[in-house]
Amino acid sequence: MRVALISVGTELLMGQTVNTNVVYLSQQLNLLGFDVLYHHTVGDNPGRLREVIDLSRKDCDLILTTGGLGPTQDDLTKEIACEAFHDELVLHEPSMAALKEAFCKRHRHMTDNNLKQAYMPTRAVVFDNDQGTAPGFALEDHGDYIICIPGPPREMKAMYQRRVKPFLESMSEGMVYFRDVMTYGIGESQLETALLPLIDGQTDPTFATYAKEGESYLRITSKDKDPAAAKARVEAAIEQVKELVGEFIYSTDGGTLPETVGSLLLEKGLTISSAESCTGGMFASALIAIPGISTAFDRGLVTYSNRAKMEELGVQEVTLDTYGAVSEETAAEMAAGLYNVCGSDICVSVTGVAGPDGGSDEKPVGLAYIGLCFCGETEVFKVEPRNVSRAWNRNKSMLEMFWHVYERLQRMP
Ligand code: ATP
Repeated sequence: MRVALISVGTELLMGQTVNTNVVYLSQQLNLLGFDVLYHHTVGDNPGRLREVIDLSRKDCDLILTTGGLGPTQDDLTKEIACEAFHDELVLHEPSMAALKEAFCKRHRHMTDNNLKQAYMPTRAVVFDNDQGTAPGFALEDHGDYIICIPGPPREMKAMYQRRVKPFLESMSEGMVYFRDVMTYGIGESQLETALLPLIDGQTDPTFATYAKEGESYLRITSKDKDPAAAKARVEAAIEQVKELVGEFIYSTDGGTLPETVGSLLLEKGLTISSAESCTGGMFASALIAIPGISTAFDRGLVTYSNRAKMEELGVQEVTLDTYGAVSEETAAEMAAGLYNVCGSDICVSVTGVAGPDGGSDEKPVGLAYIGLCFCGETEVFKVEPRNVSRAWNRNKSMLEMFWHVYERLQRMP
């Protein structure tokens, strides 16, 4: 089914309220196999709301509105939806009873305008509201549906889950199954190019590439009445993707790079520590965010100054003087020194030029070195400089630390 979401409320157009409802509803509807084609936002204006409803009906068979169901003069969604779907409002006794009970419970006096909320289109399927006073409803006209639910996110979500979702499930053409294949070291356009033989002309499963800071991932989605069939098609596609870009893939279930490394460490029973300069503890922080990591993670040192590198890690003064703090030699001594201090199976270090200042021709902003001491044996990896921003460079260095630890773990027998 083709869906248009209409958010009603002048405060949304003014930028006073962030439209979180469309994010939630789009995600939910996609999971049910509905195709959300449009997001419209319209103020509390009856003429324009009617225009948007009529426009949406040209291309979509389901319209879902949020907001404008309240008791005040400017809450007109129900009236306009009813008119556009050729019905009329009549008193809905169960809604009237629920309203009276809600006011009585709160010891509040019910005013005349509250009564308005108990009027419903004659053909409506009414959705009661257990979080507020405005009921929602679904209305059909010539095979098209309009569903109107309240604007406040708490009421909207509760009504969606309890009443709207079961209603939609009975109409859905299939369930959606998707998996996120996470890659590192390949750009989004490169990824798409590599997968073209698979993507070209493919309608199910579908492939969509996304770029995150310094990373790319691929969402593979399938839709079927039978959820097992959708799952099987996605899993078969993952195998084909692995054949084309397997060396860049670190996870096929949406797990992040830190999460993947954390799981591998726990699975293999290995310990890890870090000594960070330009990332200032970002690596340690990302690992510590993983529940249960305490059996793997021993310590994270932030050794920013030369003095800290010498005092905490035993980096030689002569190394710093000869090669500089950002050098292969310093990264290696940081990792090996950390191993001498803590004896973790994996000791990883980083030293780099975060920028925006401090770069030179020889050592441009973004250049970093990762030291990796694995059971006493040290390797060093260079992070190729790319001067985007200080935040980007630091994030990139942190990801490179995780990537090299991941690769080293993959190389283990
Ligand atoms: P009720 O009368 O039951 O409170 P309503 O259906 O009349 O609800 P509105 O008056 O349109 O809803 O909105 C009430 C409040 O809900 C808004 O002030 C805003 O805080 C929140 N809200 C409305 N629409 C959205 C939206 N699309 N995303 C996030 N919040 C929203």
